Formats: sequence, structure tokens, C-alpha cells
Amino acid sequence: MKPFRYQHVPDVDTAVRTLADTPGAQYLAGGTNLVDLMKLEVTEPDVLVDVRRLTSDRIEQHPGLLRIGASVTNSALAADPVVRRRYPVLSQAVLAGASGQLRNLATTGGNLLQRTRCVYFQDVTTPCNKREPGSGCSARGGFQREHAIFGASESCIATHPSDMAVALVALDAMVNTQGPGGTRTIPLEELHRLPGDRPDLDTVLEHGELITSVDVPDLNFASHSRYRKARDRASFAFALVSVAAALDAPDDTVRDVRLALGGVAHKPWRARRAEDVLRGEGATTTAFHEAAEAELAHARPLPGNEFKIPLLRNMIVSVLAELVGVRR
Ligand code: SF4
Repeated sequence: MKPFRYQHVPDVDTAVRTLADTPGAQYLAGGTNLVDLMKLEVTEPDVLVDVRRLTSDRIEQHPGLLRIGASVTNSALAADPVVRRRYPVLSQAVLAGASGQLRNLATTGGNLLQRTRCVYFQDVTTPCNKREPGSGCSARGGFQREHAIFGASESCIATHPSDMAVALVALDAMVNTQGPGGTRTIPLEELHRLPGDRPDLDTVLEHGELITSVDVPDLNFASHSRYRKARDRASFAFALVSVAAALDAPDDTVRDVRLALGGVAHKPWRARRAEDVLRGEGATTTAFHEAAEAELAHARPLPGNEFKIPLLRNMIVSVLAELVGVRR
């Protein structure tokens, strides 16, 4: 591992200034992904600025929203009684990720910013446009089983690994940041980028812009929600595909729905086409199938990951059916 300087600073303002003045600096929170990438020499920061105790580690109810501090650990978030009662999809998604030990350290801000687990990205002996722009994409023509079926580019076909982010996108969460230019709020759906010709950029954040909290707006039917994930092992494995869903279907008619997919794109994938098909329809497995088809018609599977299409179709239908108590 390349030597680096570890730096404590007193507050967020100083942390942001330090990053802005130091091109080779990165923020360190839980470190559960960053330190692994440093050991693999995938990323080699000169300076690590510790922000773990600078942003809030509290979950607070505000009018119209729940505010999750960026330093709230994944374990604390999943176990929070308000989250469990009002947003079960979020608690379930967090518990579907990593292991107990990792969730005890990993933070809300860091979880959103974890990097792809594409095997070529993590192997510095192979070309990778995300790690080294312009070097090529080893996954193209390589092992593509875990790669994207939506929104990929010639440059990169990687997927975003976070489960938590998929649930938060379904819940219309907003990310609050502080950067060199001040503070701003970004819809979580717009935080992560599609790869295009700049796969080295995972998000729209500028260098030095720090996530300070995440807001989850009130949603009266979010208590009626689920997260389901398909993976190669029962625990400590990333999603092959996942589904986050919340459904409002009184009288067996879909009044409203939120649907997001994981393991399918360079970002959490909000399934708006499926949502549009469902609103106003009967809450039946036929309608759920039609909604899944509307979304999946736009998928572009790669050799080796075609299985994601039927897997997702069945998972979308199954999760929605479960939410209305329909037998399949
Ligand atoms: Fe790198 Fe993306 Fe290609 Fe993986 S898919 S090798 S991350 S460019």
C-alpha cells in the first residue's frame, strides 16, 4: 500500500477546505470499502481526512422528512425503530448488505459512495476505464455475469453495489452536501451517474463535496414496502439483482407505487416505466407482469447475464404480489 497521511480536522468546514486544497486527498468514514481499495492499490490517496465524527450520527424526525446523518452506521440505521416501522424497505435493504461486522462500521454517506465490485476494476493488472481512463474495459468480452443490463456504455458496463441506495431511490430520498461552493441538496436518483464516456466519475459530487445527511420524505404508504435481493451466497454477497418496492393499493387498485432495481446499472435504477403502467390498474399479477415487461423491454443484457431478465421479472411480480397478499 502506498504511504498516506492521516488527518484529523475539527469540523466540516475545515474538512471541505482541506480536500479542496489537496487534489490527492479523500474523505475517510467507516473505511470498509476505501481501505480495501487502498490495499489493492486501486486508489492511492496522499491524504485521508477523517470525517467519521464530523457529520451527524443521529436519525431525526423533522416536519415532512426523516433526516439520517451521514455518520449513522448501517447497523444503527437498520435497527432504528422509526425506520423499521415507517420504511421497512430501507431497513431490509441495509440488512441485505455486507456482514454484521461491516455494517457496524460502514456509514450512510460511505455506503452511497462505495465503488463497483467489478472484478476487473479491483484487479490492477487488467485494463479498466473506471480505474484508469482510456485504458479499456476488460469486462467487455470478459466475465459479464454480474454486469449491467440498463444504461451501460461502450466504456463501462459496471453496476453500483449498494443495496441501501436502491431503497433510498425508491423512497425519493435527497442527499445534503457541503462543498467548496457551499451546501446543496441533490435528489438521490441524480447522485450517481451513468458511465457514458466518463466511467471514472461515479457521482455528480465535486472534489471535496461531502455528504452531510440524507433526507427521506414522508410517504404514507412506505410502511407497506419490501426489499428483495438475489445473490450467489445467503450473506455477504452483492446483488445479482434486487427489487425495492412500496405499494399503495387499497381496494385492489394501485393508487401509487415506488419501484427501484439494484444490480442492473451503474446507478440504482428507478423503474418509472413500470410504475407508470401500474398506477390506476388493478393490483393483479397480470398487471404486475405487464409493468415488469414495460421496464425490462428497455434492458440490454450482455452475453452471460441474460438470466437477469427472467429473474427480475419474477422478482418484481413476486414482491408486488406479496405486498398485496396475492397468491401467485
Ligand atoms: Fe472497468 Fe467498468 Fe469495464 Fe469493469 S465494466 S472493467 S469497472 S470499465
